Amino acid sequence: MMHVTWDSGLVIASVFIAFLTSFSALDTVARVTDSRGIKALLWLVGGGAAMGIGIWSMHFIGMMAMHFNMPMRYNPIETIFSIVVAVLGSIIALWVVFRHNQFTLKNLLLGSIILGTSAVAMHYTGMAGLRINQPIIWYKTPIIISIVIAYSASAVALWFAFQLRNNDAGVLNRFITALVMGAAIAGMHYTGMYAAHFDSTMQVLPGGLGSQRLTIWVFMSTLVILGSNLFGAMIESQLRVSRMASKLKQNNEELRQMALHDPLTNLANRTLFEDKLNDYIQRAKQNSSSFSLLYMDLDGFKMVNDAYGHDIGDKLLVEVAKCLNAAVNPSDILARVGGDEFVLLSYAGSEADVSRLAETLVAAIEPEFTVETYELRVSLSIGIAMFPAHGIEAREMLFNSDSAMYHTKNSGRNGFSIYQPSMSPIGRSQVQLKNELWRAIHNNELRLFYQPKLNVTSAAIIGYEALVRWQHPERGLKTPDKFLPIAEQTGMILLLGEWVLNEACRQLAIWHQQGADHLSISVNLSAQQFEQKSLIYLVTRTLEEYCLAPDKLILEITETTAMRYPQESIKILEELKAIGVQVAIDDFGTGYSSLLYLQNMPATELKIDRAFINSIGHKDTDPRLLSMIIELAKNMNLNIVAEGVESEEQQTYLVNLGCDVHQGYYFSRPVPPSEITVATTKYQARA
Ligand code: C2E
Ligand code: MG
Ligand code: MG
Repeated sequence: MMHVTWDSGLVIASVFIAFLTSFSALDTVARVTDSRGIKALLWLVGGGAAMGIGIWSMHFIGMMAMHFNMPMRYNPIETIFSIVVAVLGSIIALWVVFRHNQFTLKNLLLGSIILGTSAVAMHYTGMAGLRINQPIIWYKTPIIISIVIAYSASAVALWFAFQLRNNDAGVLNRFITALVMGAAIAGMHYTGMYAAHFDSTMQVLPGGLGSQRLTIWVFMSTLVILGSNLFGAMIESQLRVSRMASKLKQNNEELRQMALHDPLTNLANRTLFEDKLNDYIQRAKQNSSSFSLLYMDLDGFKMVNDAYGHDIGDKLLVEVAKCLNAAVNPSDILARVGGDEFVLLSYAGSEADVSRLAETLVAAIEPEFTVETYELRVSLSIGIAMFPAHGIEAREMLFNSDSAMYHTKNSGRNGFSIYQPSMSPIGRSQVQLKNELWRAIHNNELRLFYQPKLNVTSAAIIGYEALVRWQHPERGLKTPDKFLPIAEQTGMILLLGEWVLNEACRQLAIWHQQGADHLSISVNLSAQQFEQKSLIYLVTRTLEEYCLAPDKLILEITETTAMRYPQESIKILEELKAIGVQVAIDDFGTGYSSLLYLQNMPATELKIDRAFINSIGHKDTDPRLLSMIIELAKNMNLNIVAEGVESEEQQTYLVNLGCDVHQGYYFSRPVPPSEITVATTKYQARA
């Protein structure tokens, strides 16, 4: 027998190549599952080629590691055939196993037989390619063992590859698997080599490929595998980024569309309307022209709602909206801005024109509506403000048209009034209102109600949101929509906000002292407060006064406030973050914000607006949108809170999407602190 020595450096190199190949093949086939159609096929072919060339390279480096007393030469035909067999076998085997996204034993067996057979064929044709004058002497047992190893190694390799087919399998897992696969491939090869023996009189024949040439081949093909896979991975990640960006863009569009329209009637909503109003004002200022704002409220709608239920009420609103839409000019802007409140922007520029328009609208609503089996009747009260006579600013026009609308209501409904200064409600002049609010603060007429924020999965209350109320001595309990706009207009909001912050912190300190020190408190900030220079000082001082940990205070700013001056907002948010206070973006989804922009906001929490929650189960809504917001918020490491959860259906739906912190009537309405006991707070849900 001829004495054979082994070059240990090349042996190690061959094993290393086996490992590298496995790793790169695993990485490539992982992409198959993420792709479809022709791209999936390309990845499959790429992965198969990598695996085939890798097995082949390992085989030949292994052969070159075997030193005779003369340099070896190889037949080109067998050598090329061995590459082709290895590559084709690997591609087909991977295709058999990966063509369906489902694992079956049958496919695995079939794939292993193909891969094993190609590995065996490659090995033994490669050996047959040796240009020697004596036949190789084969030992049976190692041959059989090498064949068994080839088949079982193939099965193991394909099985692992399938398990790790998801891209998120992790590098470490892939590394370990590649080690196992590499060892299996090398094991098969070296047992196969062990089966071959050479007669001592053996001579190498001239011609064919020399070792040197083959080394270059092997080197090149290894480079090709690694290079092409690297290149592929680069292209893939580029594609992934651009796909992600376009998906985000598309989602943003959907979000914007949804954020600007009322889901029930498909009319513009308040946000879009206010935008249009500002546009109208700009244009009218430039052209010295005028236009009208009509504020409309349905009379008798509440009665319908109470008597027949929300479902019928909603259907009636849809009918009314259609009717109004048919009566207005297509270029006019009609919006729904509240339960039964509509507004219209019209180019009608004279009192005569706008009166005619108002009459048409009132008349359009007069006939009976048939909703399901009911004959329903409502009427319309309209208030009109004209630019520039009744206001030169959006707020002023809205306020005055609203006052005119109340005037219509108070003078018998079903009609319209054009604004006159006398219509401003008595005692509602700015100065008087300011005084009244001031009095409210100083006479302790303001109250805070608290609404729990609940983790529905663990059934634990994690905090409360403080919501301001005005206990008016004559007019009863007033919700913030009745007085906050005035407070903002008059600047009283700063004083009011300071009171709210102080009171909320005082209450939280009490709860903490009673043992519920895990609770946090959420306090709403208006835009003016948020932009106020002394905000940081105020917050720090209040926290110190009540010895509260800063991270137990969550300041809520609406998305609109945050996006008003994004650069400034980022600065303020960073300052708040620096003192350890948390920040929530409130009413998310109602403004215009680009989700991409939001990424730069150092906030800690995202409160998904009620409108989105409300749309759950609604046939026209796209459930992907909600799940996308949740997914994105998670990517940005934001805590997500769903606002306005009103039913079990909504709760379950949200939990399934992975959002389990909820706030809403389904669990509890906002309640005065006297109704909250630490026992319920500490020991979880009441519902
Ligand atoms: P917000 O911060 O988004 O607060 C949530 C509002 O949704 C509250 O209305 C709450 O009562 C209501 N809500 C909660 N769960 C449900 C539900 O399941 N269904 C429905 N339909 N509504 C639900 P509220 O108390 O009338 O407050 C309205 C807004 O006024 C607040 O919206 C907030 O922007 C503002 N606000 C309230 N308190 C303050 C305050 O102290 N300061 C400032 N600046 N704004 C405040
Ligand atoms: Mg809020
Ligand atoms: Mg909100």
